[in-house]
Formats: sequence, structure tokens, C-alpha cells
Amino acid sequence: MKPARFDYYTPRSLSEAIELLGRHGDEAKLLAGGQSLVPMMNLRLAQPAILIDLNHVEGLAYIRPDHDRVAIGAMTRHHEVAGSDLLRERCGLLSTAAGLIGYPAIRHRGTLGGSLAHADPVSEMPCVAMTLDAELVAVGPAGERVIGAGEFFQTYFTTALAPDEVLREVRVPVLGAGDGWGFHESARKTGDFATVAVAVHLRVTGDAVVTTRIGIAGVADRPVRAGAAESAMSSGDDVNLEEVAGQAVATVEEVSDIHASAEYRRRVVPVLVRRALDDALAMARGGRA
Ligand code: FAD
Repeated sequence: MKPARFDYYTPRSLSEAIELLGRHGDEAKLLAGGQSLVPMMNLRLAQPAILIDLNHVEGLAYIRPDHDRVAIGAMTRHHEVAGSDLLRERCGLLSTAAGLIGYPAIRHRGTLGGSLAHADPVSEMPCVAMTLDAELVAVGPAGERVIGAGEFFQTYFTTALAPDEVLREVRVPVLGAGDGWGFHESARKTGDFATVAVAVHLRVTGDAVVTTRIGIAGVADRPVRAGAAESAMSSGDDVNLEEVAGQAVATVEEVSDIHASAEYRRRVVPVLVRRALDDALAMARGGRA
């Protein structure tokens, strides 16, 4: 099918894009890589009367150090995130997960900002953003505000962005000595959307695990943190990883769809959490993040 009729704008600046959003309200949609929006328009699941293309706006694609974080422009393509030396060195969890999104053609067009704004609960980037407590910078007519990942994702395909706001930048923490991470997902075949994905970041000091963050995608209406499992990791010296991984099952809501039942998800979550914990611990204790 072809999309319904729409008017198309190509703003050259962020302020012009925001002005267009404000002028057209709910009728308008931003276009980034088009890898989610265009298929939805072709299927007529989305029928925006106005399309505001961000691809000609200057200065929205970059990856650069920002104090104890790495700042990434919203229009940075998945393949740039996956291939960035800076991210591989300072936040390998994000770049590794970006390399698992779809296929090369998807990764060359799709953007980090588009994936976060689209807020598909099975997507890799929202899961990693939740795990790392990423900061998301939104710009609207009233100026700029920073939204924590925990508040950003609200429910299926719904975020805290106001209709007249543009996601401009994403900031992730620098991971260094003592940090470790792991990312595992299950998918029917390589390149497919994940059924379940798990991201882990932890920090060790000496023998002790002092911080654990476990993010899970595909088990609820948004990416979630496995709070009980995170606490169990910090409960003492003799942590039983199998038991910790088992605690993560508490995150699984009754999500059954054509891809998998809730029962399948309850079985696969502890397996993926355990694998990600093992990787993260080995990395943290080996002194490499
Ligand atoms: P678009 O499709 O252009 O936009 C998506 C939504 O976000 C729209 O509502 C748009 O208005 C809004 N938006 C975009 N940018 C901004 C912004 N800066 N501020 C505010 N709102 C904005 N994704 C995965 O995570 N994992 C996969 O395995 C995967 N596999 C795929 C396989 C196929 C065959 C296809 C077609 C897509 C796949 N995707 C997958 C989706 C892909 O990652 C998309 O790139 C991503 O979901 C959306 O990014 P985009 O830049 O294409 O955004």
C-alpha cells in the first residue's frame, strides 16, 4: 500500500522544526530515519497530514565526550552508534546493542533519537537507555529540558515528549575500570526484532559488586528495570547468580503475542539475565569495560 496524502516540510534548523510542530499540532509527525514511521504510513496505521523531515536540520548527528558522559545527537544513525570508536571505548553496551538492530540497511537509515521516540518496548536502544539511566534532552517552544529514561518511556509507543517537542540529544554515562556490561537477546533469527532483550551494567570495587542495573525489553509495555534482581546482587558476598537471575522473572507481565507467550518469556528472561551477568562480571573483574 501507499501512504495517505501528506504535506512535506524540510526545515533547516531545530527552531524551524519546532515552529512547524507547534503550528500543525497533532496533524504533524517528525520524520527521522523513517524505518518505523514509513512502514506504518504505508500500512495506514499512521496518517499524518504533515511530515516534518529532520534530515536537513544541521547539527543533530554527532557523538562526543561530555564530562562524565557521552553525548549523542538524536539524528545519529544506528550504524554510527554501532561503529563509533569513542562509544566502543567509553560505553560499549550502547554500541554493541546498536549493532543488533535489524539489518545493515535499517541501521544505515534508522536513528538513535527515532528509536527512543518511537518507544517500541522490544527495541534495543530504549532497553539500554533504561539500564544506563540515560538523559534525554528535549527541545520545545519553552526551551530545553532533560528527561531521565525512567520517566521518558510511558507505555507502548508513548513517551514523555510533548507533541511540540523534538528529542535533540541523548547522554549516556562513561563506563570505565571496575565497570562491566552484558547484552543478550533472543530473536527468531538474526536481524529480527528481539522477543526478549536484557542489558546489564554493574560496577565492582575489590570483590564487591557495588552497583547493578538490569534492563529488560519485551516483557511489559515499556522497557523495565529488574529492581528485585538488582538488589539481590548487592545483598552480600555469596550471591547466587542463578537465584538473582530468577528474581528477574518478576518483571514479566502477561505479554503474550504472535511472537511468544508470557510463559516463554518467563523461561527465557533468567537465562538471558544470567548470561549478561556472567559477561558483565568477567569484564568488570578483568578491568575492561
Ligand atoms: P522514524 O521511523 O523516522 O520515526 C519513528 C517515530 O519517532 C515517529 O513517530 C517520529 O515522529 C518520531 N521521531 C523520530 N525522531 C524524533 C525526534 N528526534 N524527536 C521526536 N520524535 C522523533 N528496531 C529495533 O530496535 N530493533 C530491531 O531489531 C529492528 N528491526 C527492524 C527491522 C526492519 C525490517 C525495520 C523496517 C525496522 C526495524 N527496526 C528495529 C526499527 C528501526 O530501529 C528504526 O530505526 C527505529 O525504530 C526508528 O528510528 P527512525 O530514525 O527510523 O525513526
